[in-house]
Amino acid sequence: MGTTSLWQNWSGTESADPARVVRPVSAGELAAAVVAAANDGLRVKAVGTGHSFSGIAVADGVQVDMGGLDQVVEVDSRTGVVTVEAGMTLARLNEVLDAHGLALENMGDIDRQTVSGAISTGTHGTGDRYRGFAWQVKGLRLVQGDGSIVHCTEFVRPELFAAARLGLGAIGVIAEVTLQCVPAFRLKAVERPERLGAVLEGLDVLVAENDHFEFYWFPHTDRTLTKCNNRYAMSEPSRAPGRLANWWTRKFTENTLFEASNRVGTRFPGMVRGLNRLAGRVWSAREYTDVSHKVFTSPRSVVFREMEYAVPREALPEVLEDLKAMVEREGHTVSFPVEVRFAAADDVWLSTAQGRRTAYVAVHQYHRHDHEAYFKDCAAIFDAADGRPHWGKMHDLTAKKLADRYDRFEDFLKVRDAVDPDRRFANAYLERVLGD
Ligand SMILES: Cc1cc2nc3c(=O)[nH]c(=O)nc-3n(C[C@H](O)[C@H](O)[C@H](O)COP(=O)(O)OP(=O)(O)OC[C@H]3O[C@@H](n4cnc5c(N)ncnc54)[C@H](O)[C@@H]3O)c2cc1C
Repeated sequence: MGTTSLWQNWSGTESADPARVVRPVSAGELAAAVVAAANDGLRVKAVGTGHSFSGIAVADGVQVDMGGLDQVVEVDSRTGVVTVEAGMTLARLNEVLDAHGLALENMGDIDRQTVSGAISTGTHGTGDRYRGFAWQVKGLRLVQGDGSIVHCTEFVRPELFAAARLGLGAIGVIAEVTLQCVPAFRLKAVERPERLGAVLEGLDVLVAENDHFEFYWFPHTDRTLTKCNNRYAMSEPSRAPGRLANWWTRKFTENTLFEASNRVGTRFPGMVRGLNRLAGRVWSAREYTDVSHKVFTSPRSVVFREMEYAVPREALPEVLEDLKAMVEREGHTVSFPVEVRFAAADDVWLSTAQGRRTAYVAVHQYHRHDHEAYFKDCAAIFDAADGRPHWGKMHDLTAKKLADRYDRFEDFLKVRDAVDPDRRFANAYLERVLGD
């Protein structure tokens, strides 16, 4: 029997009061929970660690807590093909991969998410030659609306696989995920402050010459922090920051001090410009080398709201110029940096980088600060650039607009109609972005 409880996502933007919560520990129990929900006329929503900012994980019927499905199924160290239960967190997956001399090819900023949550929303990192999580998926074991458990890959039920590998939770509940991993590697990180103009002028070179390039722009200033991460073999000596240096940068500067500065900025908006200039200086130059996932990810304890759009790579300079002008023209007070990342084109149906070389622009606002007017003005700029919103981050787009932005949107809907005609896996967010 399940229990009930009020659920909230990480950023506090969404809550749910499901009819019941279940925590299966096997694919069989998961399938039984789906059948029981159908018998009771309830919808089903699998939930990872609730790190989506959008309402994508909100359950109104049966909430499936994926935390009980977190075991390793199979690891092939030779081929790098790894199968795990879908509710395993990325942090735990990295421990498993470390032990087998393997790694995820690319990662985003944190490792708190579940594997199934990360792939289902199109979670990505940065790198002009690299692609998002869903692209690394080679196979899925999936529970469908009638409780049947199916296996799909590029070759077995390929259409189902194409939809479900980045399925927004609409195609069924994933029980297991098979990922193509790579041999473990080190990343050398070079972080340094640069002027925005210099970054935009040298952008093509920075993006092409670094494996994983990204930058943060501090609104109201022309300061940025650039991050160039490059890949080396594990034989490269580790030059990880010492414990004190790590605490100073990752815990104190990027979290404790940043939280304090955001609180001051919320109370005294007139100080935000100066605080951003200060942040641009305090987040200072450093270099270190460490195991890939320790460089890709950092702790994030300052709670914020986020909207992120994928725009065609060539549109990026104009989008940033428009953002800069808009922030000043409209008088927004923005205490959080804008994060800019890159990805190669991929062929995953609902990937935000499907069919085009992509730049990601993420705007944030401190959780105690109103984000609505700022995000609305940002969305207008992203929309004009044919942007595709991150499925797990805040946006207002509907199925009608989204259909025009994805070549395979109709194909996705056809698979959904075939495997979930009763809309067992729908919620209000999916009704908005996919239609009824
Ligand atoms: C601090 C922070 C940093 C972030 N950094 C990045 C980043 O660098 N790059 C990036 O792209 N995104 C980033 N995100 C967004 C985040 O990666 C995604 O929202 C991700 O989906 C969250 O995973 P989760 O496990 O919390 O999933 P949830 O938010 O709980 O769920 C997300 C979706 O996955 C579905 N789902 C979960 N499990 C299953 C399953 N077993 N079967 C079917 N559907 C399932 C849910 O139903 C829901 O639709 C960040 C978010 C936060 C809060």
